[in-house]
Amino acid sequence: GNQVVDREVDSVCPFCGVGCLLTYQVKDEKIVSVTGRDGPANHNRLCVKGRFGFDYVEHAQRLTKPLIRKAGVPKDSHEISKPGHWSEVFREASWEEALMLAAGKLSSLKAQYGNKVLAGFGSAKGTNEEAYLFQKLVRIGFGSNNVDHCTRLCHASSVAALLEGVGSGAVSNQVNDVEHAGLIIVIGSNPTANHPVAATWMKNAAKNGTKIVLMDPRITDIGKYAWRTMQFKPDTDVALLNAMLFTIVEEGLVDQEFIEKRASNFEALRENVKNYSPEKMALICGVSASVIREVARAYATSKASMILWGMGVSQHVHGTDNARCLIALASVTGQVGKPGSGLHPLRGQNNVQGASDAGLIPMMFPNYQRVTDDSARAWFENFWASPLDKDPGYTVVEIMHQILADDSDPHKIRGMYIMGENPAMSDPDLNHARHALASLEHLVVQDIFMTETAWLADVVLPASAWPEKTGTASNTDRMVQMGRRALNPPGDAKPDLWIIQQIAQRMGLNWNYAGAESGVAAVYEEMRQAMHTVISGISWERLELESSVTYPCLTADDPGQPTVFIEHFDTKDGRVHLVPADIVPAHERPDEEFPFVLITGRQLEHWHTGSMTRRATVLDAIEPIATVSMHGEDIAKLGIEAGAVVTVQSRRGEVAIHVRRDDGTPVGAIFIPFAYYEAAANLMTNAALDPFGKIPEFKYCAVRVIVG
Ligand code: SF4
Repeated sequence: GNQVVDREVDSVCPFCGVGCLLTYQVKDEKIVSVTGRDGPANHNRLCVKGRFGFDYVEHAQRLTKPLIRKAGVPKDSHEISKPGHWSEVFREASWEEALMLAAGKLSSLKAQYGNKVLAGFGSAKGTNEEAYLFQKLVRIGFGSNNVDHCTRLCHASSVAALLEGVGSGAVSNQVNDVEHAGLIIVIGSNPTANHPVAATWMKNAAKNGTKIVLMDPRITDIGKYAWRTMQFKPDTDVALLNAMLFTIVEEGLVDQEFIEKRASNFEALRENVKNYSPEKMALICGVSASVIREVARAYATSKASMILWGMGVSQHVHGTDNARCLIALASVTGQVGKPGSGLHPLRGQNNVQGASDAGLIPMMFPNYQRVTDDSARAWFENFWASPLDKDPGYTVVEIMHQILADDSDPHKIRGMYIMGENPAMSDPDLNHARHALASLEHLVVQDIFMTETAWLADVVLPASAWPEKTGTASNTDRMVQMGRRALNPPGDAKPDLWIIQQIAQRMGLNWNYAGAESGVAAVYEEMRQAMHTVISGISWERLELESSVTYPCLTADDPGQPTVFIEHFDTKDGRVHLVPADIVPAHERPDEEFPFVLITGRQLEHWHTGSMTRRATVLDAIEPIATVSMHGEDIAKLGIEAGAVVTVQSRRGEVAIHVRRDDGTPVGAIFIPFAYYEAAANLMTNAALDPFGKIPEFKYCAVRVIVG
């Protein structure tokens, strides 16, 4: 510790799903430095975001007063990209006035048009307690299940496949477990940028002899450590993975005993993969048959093999099919249910696992209890002492469509409460999404900055940044971890948990969670009861002492279960359910007019829509401008040089952007991070959805590149 600081506060990183534990050093009510703690996911390590990503909390643009839209100022969805210039549009208000207006208008829309006309987006950047309370407010106060969050844009398809296949959406093995693996497949993931400390465990394992196989259309940093790289053509995941399954079946590499005892539907899978020989699929996916066969053999026969995947797998109209193939691969080879094996969808945000567990999703109550299941609904009706809607709610992208539904539609969304999400940057086809948000009769946004979404609000409620509140978050490894308040929020900004309760009270709910930090411990304990089959052994007091506990954890002395599915899967019959998948092409293919494929994603220094990291001095200094990554051959073909400004255009929108040379990007494709409001990648993306997970196709749409 630094002797000149006033105090040190132990907490957890607010950025990615790795969930590094850290300590803030506070002096004169500012975080002056951050150091890594010996947490189970990080063992003192931090990445550049965790070390240098915190001065956004003291940025001059922090919202410090409730704001109300000035009378007569129209919502212009094309005028939102001007941070700091909002005073022409909003006036400051007292909390009482802002809360009365926010809750009063939501209530009156419900009274006038019925229970289905309101919706809420919570956030995977908030705490478990905020997520839990927010979804409860929507289900009871709003009266429908129209509640969702950015998991819909992230791993919704992976979770759909996992719930169907293995009965649980969470990871089977923790990242650290790569040290016990003989081989790991990293597919559709750029861990060095997006899960940097997790990537260090992979690199350490490689040093000790673990074979890394990188499967990705983009060859990223982790490729330097890979035993084999398989640069398959964008959109051909199912072709490649089925060819591996073909090899495993044909060459007798399946684990018969495992399949007989623990799997169902293998016959159908085997029949289906007969159509996918590596020799045929090589022409489609661009990876040679010999490499496909070699990797399939190595995966099946290593002592333990693990699959880690990211949004490159999930963000397709066939995202669920992609994940089904991964589940099949692990299951037919018996590479699941033991250390160093299994299935690990790398969670993006710090609390996307926890927010989903807490029920921030439209088809499920907390703990993945389906709203359509009569006994689950009866349990929650009793637990919350309130009637509940039996219809699943709309998902993120569906809500944008429902806002623009016909006036006669009783399910037309007319009012929304958005807490900590920024759909005006993160949704696909932004011109459409922004128009929808601007068309709402009433929009309440709760955030720490005037985000692109807040710009379109009627009421803006100033909230707390991560270091300004206490609460828990659940990382990609199923670790529930304690975040602690180090600072007070600026001005009149308030803790989110307090704001949710104030809105609830003004919508007629008698909520008042007593205790410090807006009653966070009481909310956690209620959530623990709702999730008693998973976290009953993790009390608030235990978290205060231990900071991090892995679930499932059922008793106070249970250390938690790092590997699951050892004896059985979480499905009804205890078996993994295999689901065959066939090739489904991307919704929008390149053509003569729009010849390039656009792939969107993230980069190391900037977090998602950039509202925090672009206001963090060091991070913004490292990556100050938006760039489009292109292969050197494509740059040469266009007759330009790296650094030139081009216009990238799809059928839906366009941006002007600097060219960056990156020969890891495949020829014919380009890559743009979605963090930059001035060159918002999602103006161009396609809102077509995977039919199961309802996730949009962020990883594939057709664009052209215009020089000059
Ligand atoms: Fe934070 Fe993730 Fe970096 Fe760890 S790896 S410091 S959790 S952003």
